[in-house]
Amino acid sequence: MTELFPADKIKQLQDLIADSKNITIITHVNPDGDAVGSSVGWQTFLKEQGVKSTVIVPNHFPNFLKWIKGSENIVVNYSEREKCENLLKNSDLIFCLDFNNLSRLNSIGQLIQSLDTKKVLIDHHVGTCENDFTLTFSKVPLSSTSEAVYEIIRGITKQTSVSQEIAEALYAGIMTDTGEFSHSCNSCLFRTVADLMDCGIDRNRIHSLVYGSFSENRMRLQGYCIHKKMEVLPEYKTAYISLTLNELDKFKFEPGDTEGFVNIPLNIKDIELSAFFVESKEGFIKVSLRSTGEFSVDSMARKYFNGGGHKNASGGKLYTSLDKAVSIFKSILPEYDELSTVV
Ligand code: 5GP
Ligand code: MN
Repeated sequence: MTELFPADKIKQLQDLIADSKNITIITHVNPDGDAVGSSVGWQTFLKEQGVKSTVIVPNHFPNFLKWIKGSENIVVNYSEREKCENLLKNSDLIFCLDFNNLSRLNSIGQLIQSLDTKKVLIDHHVGTCENDFTLTFSKVPLSSTSEAVYEIIRGITKQTSVSQEIAEALYAGIMTDTGEFSHSCNSCLFRTVADLMDCGIDRNRIHSLVYGSFSENRMRLQGYCIHKKMEVLPEYKTAYISLTLNELDKFKFEPGDTEGFVNIPLNIKDIELSAFFVESKEGFIKVSLRSTGEFSVDSMARKYFNGGGHKNASGGKLYTSLDKAVSIFKSILPEYDELSTVV
């Protein structure tokens, strides 16, 4: 059994946990399956070791993740700001999961940065900000933070099995962050998935809880996006979808409803770049980018959209109008020779 994280690092982590009384786990804004799965999976592991902790998320997470055991105890900063601030101020150890940059937490990130509390990063994104953390567990080839959590647990227990509760949470994170095993998968990940299956998870049940529990409004919004809002630019192997707040209202938008929409245009033959733009109540345009093959949306997100992520899945934001965000996107496409179909 090869260890992904060195034994001395695992030992440092165990010492940090042993020295702490108030532990908080925090993940990124708009928590997705990996954010919730890895945070709750890690919290459950700590609980099984006799260590109490609290999971905080900056804003609401999708209903299709609420079946994950332990997610019912998550504290949402958006609705319980004072409680979250107090939890963080009183923490002696903060775990930061599934992000590498405290700016991805908005105001709560500034608070965390100002605290000289010990912080441990568990993540899988490019460009870890080592200085922000006491200890970092991040390897870019990892599919997900849930896989990183599994590797840490394996490093601690020296066993491949975890409780069913942990296995379900981590499997949900891996399944969603790999787009149902369509990207970021290697043989090591499939070995991990096999180990999780041996822990008694019901893959079909998890699949249907996540992907088969949509509301009628969400399905109609998806149909509307494909039928009315998807623009295809074959000359740049690109397609995109944009949505206004008004349109979201019309379909009674709930958090998570647009999750995965950015992947849809990639199903069109020869489309290699897909973008999704959506207005937010906070006044910015949330940008999601996906690509297939070698085209890096991470560098595009960094250069033009104040963001980042992975080679094939990145995001960012622009404080501008929806139309302007879309026109910026369209204006940069000619820069990328690899997208051009003109020989
Ligand atoms: P999504 O498009 O699903 O929001 O995000 C896709 C990927 O891009 C995720 O791995 C996420 O961590 C990253 N990402 C999304 N938004 C941002 C952002 O504003 N800043 C950075 N650095 N990464 C982002
Ligand atoms: Mn992730």
